[in-house]
Amino acid sequence: MAKPPTLLALNWKMNKTPTEATAWAKELTAQLQPGSAQLAIMAPAIDLPALATSLQGSGVAVGGQDVSAHASGAYTGEISAAMLLDTGASHVVIGHSERREYHAESSQLVAAKTRAAIEAGLIPIVCVGEGLEVRERGEHVTYTLDQLRDSLAGVRLDRPGALVVAYEPVWAIGTGKTATAADAEELCSAIRTALVGLYGPTGQDVQVLYGGSVKPGNIREICDQPNVNGALVGGAALEVQSVLDMAS
Ligand code: PGA
Repeated sequence: MAKPPTLLALNWKMNKTPTEATAWAKELTAQLQPGSAQLAIMAPAIDLPALATSLQGSGVAVGGQDVSAHASGAYTGEISAAMLLDTGASHVVIGHSERREYHAESSQLVAAKTRAAIEAGLIPIVCVGEGLEVRERGEHVTYTLDQLRDSLAGVRLDRPGALVVAYEPVWAIGTGKTATAADAEELCSAIRTALVGLYGPTGQDVQVLYGGSVKPGNIREICDQPNVNGALVGGAALEVQSVLDMAS
């Protein structure tokens, strides 16, 4: 039997109202088996208080999909790391390719947000990955590692478990095109080596996830790779049954 993924981060993106999120959480916890993967629901910020309440005691973590680089102040529309933590969130996705593309987020901003999250005690899931053109030029490893180093500029890790990195090739997100298990391993292994270069032994323990069209039919093969510690899942994270299938 294949090993279950260690961490399954469910990126709901802009889906589910607080009412829908609460009903979903009830349905999930009624069926979740012991020994499943660690689940973290990365929900719209407005869902977090209700979700955290309905998941209390279940072992399922919740997190945000973005965070401000600032601690507080005149930043209309922004949500700080302390505010996310206060809802019961433990994680936050930072630098997702949809934020980089539709909100022009640079790796410098991603690094500032990552520093703010870690300082506040949230676990950032920092996303990196190349687009199709870069992949076709064969420059995906160099590109992704450069993006990783820039996205972690000035980020200090003083305890294990303080950071998660997700390799998400942009061409595989929401497209149904999945990287092969070998593609995922190639980059997750290169990312781990880079993390050890940056952080020494603490870097070895960073969980490195793969994301991009992960679903029940392909998660096992991908997460069985030695350097893939789990998955960041979008589309297949919206249905309770497919999450149960992936987590078991
Ligand atoms: P997908 O999204 O699973 O729908 O490809 C993954 C992500 O964007 O995190």
